[in-house]
Amino acid sequence: MQEQAIAWRHAGDDIGVVPTMGALHAGHDSLVTRARSENQRVIVTIFVNPAQFGPNEDFERYPRPFDQDRARLEALGVDAIFHPPVDQIYPPAFKTRVDPGPLADVLEGKSRPGHFAGVLTVVLKLFNLTQPKRAYFGQKDFQQVVLVRQLVRDFGLPVRIVAVPTVRHPDGLAMSSRNVYLDPGQRQLAPTLQQALTEAARAFTAGETDPLRLEGLARGRLAAAQGLAVDYVALVDGATLSRPERAIPGSVLAVAVKLGSIRLIDNVVLGAERL
Ligand code: AMP
Repeated sequence: MQEQAIAWRHAGDDIGVVPTMGALHAGHDSLVTRARSENQRVIVTIFVNPAQFGPNEDFERYPRPFDQDRARLEALGVDAIFHPPVDQIYPPAFKTRVDPGPLADVLEGKSRPGHFAGVLTVVLKLFNLTQPKRAYFGQKDFQQVVLVRQLVRDFGLPVRIVAVPTVRHPDGLAMSSRNVYLDPGQRQLAPTLQQALTEAARAFTAGETDPLRLEGLARGRLAAAQGLAVDYVALVDGATLSRPERAIPGSVLAVAVKLGSIRLIDNVVLGAERL
């Protein structure tokens, strides 16, 4: 992959890369479509990265419908699919890991120790193998966007990080490869995440700027849904991930819940989305 990517760059082509774990849906499509519109070459990586899964997480059972994914990406007109085996990314002699620093200790990182070290390690390697001018990530995983931007700044990587809005089902549930795990009852409850976020975002638009009250509104809505356990509800600054004294446009309200053993996340950028 790297030789091909270097040849494209030498020929003057910009490369857009879309890193994914496969099991592609319309959310991924929107990243690819954006990349297609901004670059001469588009590479989609499909790699279920063992380093970003905890010991009790779903690495083994994560869906891997590669043939379907390939057909989907061919229809979208990508130039290359990079689908390496685990030992190509992590050969036996592999030793180095990226330490993501303190922004990885909160929110997702607090609930999933080691997750962002795994993410940033693979992202750094994938960037080197695919030589992108631009890399596309979903706003759904907004802490991931913040941390990848930090990686790019800290290590001086010549890559522009593009954050793409979350694509949702008609009932508001954010599309996710993990939604296939939901049983019918859980699937019915799952849109509560976005309803809770929207309720708080509306309150912000109506003038509420107290972070604890905004969190409380979302938490209250989630608590009313039986069978849904809240992991966190956090109103944070979109860059520092700490709680501001007052919510401002651009503050992010992020939630994570568990439906049985299935963990779902979502977020809203205050003042940015149509409500
Ligand atoms: P994944 O395959 O889940 O690792 O996701 C690959 C990329 O797609 C990440 O940058 C995600 O944030 C992004 N993504 C996942 N779901 C969505 C969605 N519903 N809308 C937009 N982007 C998404």
